Amino acid sequence: MPFEFQGKHVTVAGLGVSGVPAAKVLHGLGARVTVVNDGADERARAQAAELEALGITVRLGDGDTLPDGTELIVTAPGWKPTKPLFTAAGQAGVPVWGDVELAWRLRRPDSAPWLAVTGTNGKTTTVQMLASILKAAGLRTAAVGNIGVSLLDAVTGDEEYDVLAVELSSYQLHWAPSLRAHSAAVLNLAPDHLDWHGSMEAYAADKGRIYEGNHVACVYNVADKATEDLVREADVEEGCRAIGFTLGSPAPSQLGVVDGILVDRAFVENRHKNAQELAEVSDVNPPAPHNIANALAAAALARAFGVPAAAVRDGLRAFTPDAHRIAHVADVDGVAYVDDSKATNTHATEASLAAYESIVWIAGGLAKGATFDELVAGAAKRLRGAVLIGADRALIREALTRHAPEVPVVDLDRTDTGAMLQAVQEARRLARPGDTVLLAPACASMDMFTNYNQRGDAFAQAVRELGA
Ligand code: ADP
Repeated sequence: MPFEFQGKHVTVAGLGVSGVPAAKVLHGLGARVTVVNDGADERARAQAAELEALGITVRLGDGDTLPDGTELIVTAPGWKPTKPLFTAAGQAGVPVWGDVELAWRLRRPDSAPWLAVTGTNGKTTTVQMLASILKAAGLRTAAVGNIGVSLLDAVTGDEEYDVLAVELSSYQLHWAPSLRAHSAAVLNLAPDHLDWHGSMEAYAADKGRIYEGNHVACVYNVADKATEDLVREADVEEGCRAIGFTLGSPAPSQLGVVDGILVDRAFVENRHKNAQELAEVSDVNPPAPHNIANALAAAALARAFGVPAAAVRDGLRAFTPDAHRIAHVADVDGVAYVDDSKATNTHATEASLAAYESIVWIAGGLAKGATFDELVAGAAKRLRGAVLIGADRALIREALTRHAPEVPVVDLDRTDTGAMLQAVQEARRLARPGDTVLLAPACASMDMFTNYNQRGDAFAQAVRELGA
């Protein structure tokens, strides 16, 4: 639906990564833009000065009051739906769009279709694999969303694309009511961000919006029934198909794995009899089970777009994962050291622990309300030992005591910068040749580090010191 911005009173909620570019684009389209922001720190004041110089009104320190005359709100995706600003908007009948909705509405009519990916874990990896496959097919594309090019730049910039590989968070989906992707995938669904969404049902419903109006394929995870349920509930275009991916042998309309080969039984002639080989498991980097699932999801979306099998293989071979995602750092004395600092929740850590046979596990940090019983019980058999760091390590220790009482645990009561080196030294002591020392903390890092990157870098540095 075309939307006329000229002369419209638009309130942009939140400065920052999405707010500043949104305000500029809307101003450029002739809207009368007011930006509201909760904070008024130095960064906010600098951003405000930049926008005010263009003639945009900025209100710092009050993100809760709806400016008079507002006809549309464009919000930063992280703003909670329960904020008074949105209650006031609801009462006044003012629509609220997120950054994704804005980008979607600003697309040119002939612009590139979107292949969209969401899920609790694996989004970035899958979208990057997908972009790599699309490029291998000779298509002009980009991985957009949290990574690389911003969505707004991709749809309003000069660069021409044939198709976009789009990563979408549950927050962004919440605020994107009219998005209609060519095809979309929900990789998995585990409790996360529940304080924002209010409940697991609301979180799932927001994720499920990615399937609304899909044209060609709704891709779901056969091993995660909740994702299939979302496909069933979605209102899609006539002829749109449900396509499953599985680490097992695929049924018709699925992609899966047979004897170490990724195969397609969905986008082939006579799928009841035929299957198409796409790539070998060893083409996936790293070939951990959850990452093979990501590769299958990416392949399903690419195949839905008509990409040939050879491009799937070439694209997967060309893909290298971002740092701190199951990154092999070094082998020291026959022990592998692996950095999965990005495993900041239990669902990601569960996948990580499932990828190795015998593990010395380095974990801990900020638990964000998580419980660890299920995670520890599932991995107990594979744990050679555990080294715990960070503020909430007692929660993991208690789970280990309950479910893995024989596993030796080293509890590090320090949070200074030397803590990671000691953790790695303790892990080395526990490890035997053939084991993997795995940093997969199941927690956020901010109690000890600036972010998960710094935590992973500290781990890699400590491993290098061991080897020296
Ligand atoms: P996201 O963009 O969803 O945060 P990433 O690709 O950055 O996902 O990976 C985040 C973390 O989740 C990493 O620690 C990775 O090992 C783990 N992970 C990746 N894919 C999956 C998956 N399919 N299931 C569970 N965990 C996964």
